[in-house]
Amino acid sequence: MFVAPCCRRPPAQTDRYLECVDCGRQYVIEDGIFKFNVVDSTHGEFSKEEMREILTRIDKVGWREALRTEVQQRNPRVVRLITDPRRALSVAPITAAPGGRVLDFGCGYGGISMVLAGSFHEVVALDESLERLSVLMHIKHQEGLDNITLVCHHDASHLPFPNDHFDAVVLVGVLEYLPVSIPLASIEVAHDSCLLEFRRVLKPGGRIWVLTKNRFGWQFLQGQPDHSQIRFAPVLPRRLTDLISRARGRGPYRIINYTFGGYRRLFASNGFIDVRLYWPIAGYQTPDHIVPLDAQAMHRVGHLGSYGFGQPKLALLGTLDRLGLLPWVVPAYGVLAHKP
Ligand SMILES: [Zn+2]
Repeated sequence: MFVAPCCRRPPAQTDRYLECVDCGRQYVIEDGIFKFNVVDSTHGEFSKEEMREILTRIDKVGWREALRTEVQQRNPRVVRLITDPRRALSVAPITAAPGGRVLDFGCGYGGISMVLAGSFHEVVALDESLERLSVLMHIKHQEGLDNITLVCHHDASHLPFPNDHFDAVVLVGVLEYLPVSIPLASIEVAHDSCLLEFRRVLKPGGRIWVLTKNRFGWQFLQGQPDHSQIRFAPVLPRRLTDLISRARGRGPYRIINYTFGGYRRLFASNGFIDVRLYWPIAGYQTPDHIVPLDAQAMHRVGHLGSYGFGQPKLALLGTLDRLGLLPWVVPAYGVLAHKP
């Protein structure tokens, strides 16, 4: 099921490692995790010491109890990302056609992978953080989720999978970070090479589902900082934000979101067809609704009330919708696209 990411050839495999038949590079298999990463990366939710304590606790009392107590105290967001039942809705457009093989790229602790495991025959859960994958591995064993394969890897422009391999690819809150893991390429080249690579590993007719933020989302238009911690950062010209970011010692500005038109262009120009945008309300990690943005405007306005918006906001959203602007300013998008 793998190719060596270095030379894109099927590797020789033993119990303990995969070996590239061309260049001889070895990739270790440890604790059931296929490790293609050269560097171990962590995202700093927990220190190594904390993570050891959490894993010990999961072993001792089971993952649900460990999350409810140990992890909840330290970082409730992580618990929500793993256990919130609304996570299922965030991938509803992709689980609507179940069966086959799916790649959860940037799976984190595997909250989405677990949802997908209920709908797909095989789930490849991939993340750059070995520690997050270790948590998912414990959950997998305790839940008997044998259809999840765990892969540690970071470079989306060199995936360790053969051509035409997946029925679906899912990226939840990941697309904007891809240029960070390919520091030598421009942002445009980085995003293009990653999308072409996702297209390569998809079967013809396969679909990709991406949940991400809107560069012109109303939160950013109102000055809410993005990952760069700079107010209005996404809304300003990128070169300017890049200069500000460097001047403040935060390095180049490479965590990038696109606009309503920008996402459609990004996917279409990299060979995807039937690109459709959705609006996850309220927020893409744990949404209550996933609303197609190509629906008839009046139909959408008619439903806004039931999405929990108050009267003043409803009036504003209705006006924006009548002007055809609503799809451009919603905070986040789901992008569904197909490989021809
Ligand atoms: Zn090689």
